[in-house]
Amino acid sequence: MKLFIWSALLLASVSVQASLCENGKRQSPINITATQKRSGPEPDFAYHPAPLNIANDGHTVRVRFDKRSTLRLGKEQYTLQQFHFHTPGGDQIHGEEFPMAAHLLHKSASGQLLAVVVLFRTGKENSVLRQLLPLIPPKQDGDHLQAGLSIDAVSLVPRQHAYYRYAGSLTAAPCTEGVEWIVMKQPLELSGEQLAAYRNRFADNGRAVQPLHQRSVVEVP
Ligand SMILES: [Zn+2]
Repeated sequence: MKLFIWSALLLASVSVQASLCENGKRQSPINITATQKRSGPEPDFAYHPAPLNIANDGHTVRVRFDKRSTLRLGKEQYTLQQFHFHTPGGDQIHGEEFPMAAHLLHKSASGQLLAVVVLFRTGKENSVLRQLLPLIPPKQDGDHLQAGLSIDAVSLVPRQHAYYRYAGSLTAAPCTEGVEWIVMKQPLELSGEQLAAYRNRFADNGRAVQPLHQRSVVEVP
C-alpha cells in the first residue's frame, strides 16, 4: 500500500512537470513581435571578476558565480548565480533566429528569478568564449574551479542597455514559471569558428519558441 502511494505521488509530480513544459501559458523562449514601448528602469550591472568555476552539465557549459556580482533593476536587487549558453539562441526578435544566446541567471533576496538573455550574431571573435571554449570539461562531472583564473560577466553585457521584458520560465524541466525575462536588444558577436567549436560539444541545446498566449512584451528603449 505504502509503495502504491509513493508511486502515485511520484507519477503526480512527474506529470505536473510535464504539464508545465507542455501546457504552461508563460513559457520561454518566445518570438518577440508586437511590443508595448514604455520607459523603465535601466539595468545597473555591478558585476565583478570572480574565480572561474566552470562545469559541463551534460547540456551546456555553465559558469557559477560567487554572489558578489549583482544587478539592480528599479527597486529590486538580484545576485548573479550562473551563466550558460544555448545554440540556437531561443528568443527571436521579429522572427530572427540567433545562432547563440547567453542566459545569465539571477536571484533576488526574496527568491525572485530573473534571466538576462544576451543574443549573438556571427561576426567577430568573442573574448569570453575565447577564454571558456578550451576549458569546457570533457564530461559531465560537476564544477571545476580553475586555479588562478577569473572571469568577469560584464564582458557579456552589451554596451546599449535597451531591452525587452516579459513573464517567462526556465527553459528546461520543470519549466518553472514566474521568471522575469529580460532580453537585451543589442546582440553581441562570436566568430563562425567559435560557434562551430561550441556546437561540436553541445549541438542544438536551445528550446523552440513557445506560444505567447495572453502575455505582452514591454520594450524599454
Ligand atoms: Zn538557459
